[in-house]
Amino acid sequence: MKNLTLTSIDAADGSGARRERSRVNVDGVIIGESPVVIAGPCGVESEAQTMTAAVAVKQAGAQLLRGGAFKPRTSPYAFQGLGLQGLKILAKAKVETGLPVVTEVIDPRDVNWVAEYVDMLQVGARNMQNFTLLKALGRIKKPVLLKRGMYSTIEEWLNCAEYILSEGNPHVVLCERGIRTFETYTRNTLDLSAVAAAKELTHLPVIVDPTHGTGRPSLIAPMSAAAVAAGADGVIIEVHPEPEKALSDGDQALTPNQFFTFMQRFQAVTQALAQSGPKPSVL
Ligand code: PEP
Ligand code: MN
Repeated sequence: MKNLTLTSIDAADGSGARRERSRVNVDGVIIGESPVVIAGPCGVESEAQTMTAAVAVKQAGAQLLRGGAFKPRTSPYAFQGLGLQGLKILAKAKVETGLPVVTEVIDPRDVNWVAEYVDMLQVGARNMQNFTLLKALGRIKKPVLLKRGMYSTIEEWLNCAEYILSEGNPHVVLCERGIRTFETYTRNTLDLSAVAAAKELTHLPVIVDPTHGTGRPSLIAPMSAAAVAAGADGVIIEVHPEPEKALSDGDQALTPNQFFTFMQRFQAVTQALAQSGPKPSVL
């Protein structure tokens, strides 16, 4: 890894001793202790849709609500998100459920005002190397969820985290969300080795997005179990009240009922792992 100068995120300090692992506090929810679940729709489409999803994920046991108000879409004609209206809906969903909110920001000029509406800002895979955006996020105090680009190496991903920390914001959580390979059965190939590698190389928490990582609802539970077994600090899952009517990513969303079942399985796995001893770490 030639360009890996991990001054801020390095797992080791200058003397080679391992640094304490970071914990990121998202309005009271700590990422970096026991595994957390972030859940909600891909996009905020309406107040009713978001509220239904938010209440359902809260009842099932999720700790954070996700929902995109700015959607970076492959086609310019596809749903682009509700913008400010979407942020207001998310803020209302937080009041209703008590769940802190995670949303994606795609334009550096939006960072400061979007941060006033939400608790954590997400950098999407398509924007991972938007260095102006990363620097802007480095100058705020709110936590940042940095997704790995779908064509990015682990080294490139970690350098992007370094951009944010070097500007002064230490509250960064990494997210593996799958990379493009020759495989077509899954939407992406979920690279769980990147989770273990990122935890070996850095002190940052790492979560996994098995929804975009596989694109298949049936694979979300098994990949979430594998993620936490590999040392992930949580998962982010898309849930939609009516996936068949979703304006984005309907094919991969869980229904509220499916999410409830998912949570029961996920909690059983995390409890079993907690009882079996310490998390996987460097030997
Ligand atoms: C999303 O979380 O809805 C999203 C667009 O994810 P990614 O950037 O990983 O594709
Ligand atoms: Mn999505």
